[in-house]
Amino acid sequence: MHMEMIKIVVAGPRGRMGIAALNLIKNTEHFTLVGAVDRINNGRKVSDVEGLPQLDAPIYTDIEECFSAVKPDVLLDLTTPEVGRLHTEIALNHGVRPVVGTTGFSQEGLDKISKQAEDKGIGAIIAPNFAIGAILMMKFSQMAAKYFQDVEIIELHHDKKLDAPSGTAAKTAELISSVREYKKQGHPDEKETMQGARGATYDGIHLHSVRLPGLIAHQEVLFGGDGQMLTIRHDSFNRESFMSGVRLAIETVMKIDLLVYGLENIIE
Ligand code: NAP
Repeated sequence: MHMEMIKIVVAGPRGRMGIAALNLIKNTEHFTLVGAVDRINNGRKVSDVEGLPQLDAPIYTDIEECFSAVKPDVLLDLTTPEVGRLHTEIALNHGVRPVVGTTGFSQEGLDKISKQAEDKGIGAIIAPNFAIGAILMMKFSQMAAKYFQDVEIIELHHDKKLDAPSGTAAKTAELISSVREYKKQGHPDEKETMQGARGATYDGIHLHSVRLPGLIAHQEVLFGGDGQMLTIRHDSFNRESFMSGVRLAIETVMKIDLLVYGLENIIE
């Protein structure tokens, strides 16, 4: 089937996700990299930067200059929360469709982007987790929460991660709480003798964040019942695990005219 070529700018091309995304674009026939936004390397080509794949696209430090010069269809943002939010707003102002993998956006930030996309009638996708297996983990957890009120979420990530809890853990808690009958878990008189021992809470659900070198992105959702425990676990062993979701998001953002938050809303 012939597919229209999609012109893409990647912000954060030297990052771990950025490099995996550049390789995805290089290996996808109907994707073309037309530019990259990096805070260094202005004026160079992607292929001139050590460690980056052989792609001819120019690098800009100023994202507005980049959009005006190369007129992309899609911005793929893989940077940091503050920068990512700013990039997303600028993209929508330029009529460029954002696909955002950057995590750590506040609810207020998301609401603002949602309104901006709706007002402009431009598609946008923000996905805190592009791994299809992680999306299924969230969906299965939501199913299980109908039968198990007691649940704790443990997310484990590499020690370079800036935000905690992970966007995936927060989203899992949100999905669970939408079907779970509220319960304050643990002993009613429970006391922390060391602050933070019971983790963060979302609607009575406890979330725990582990940060260790060597890890990528992992999560366990533990459901406890009388004499039984159900564990739903997902592991991303490398950044390629996210790339089929990135590809789907780039294809889908071209066909929608509002913000979609979470890949679970675009897979069947
Ligand atoms: P990383 O390796 O630290 O890469 C982040 C990149 O952003 C760095 O190259 C950094 O450049 C760049 N950057 C920072 N400020 C910038 C600016 N003003 N303009 C352009 N680039 C800028 O992080 P990562 O592991 O690739 O993760 C990137 C983001 O994706 C994080 O928010 C992470 O949580 C998220 N993530 C999402 C998923 C998902 O499935 N949605 C999966 C994994 C990670 P410098 O080197 O100059 O600092």
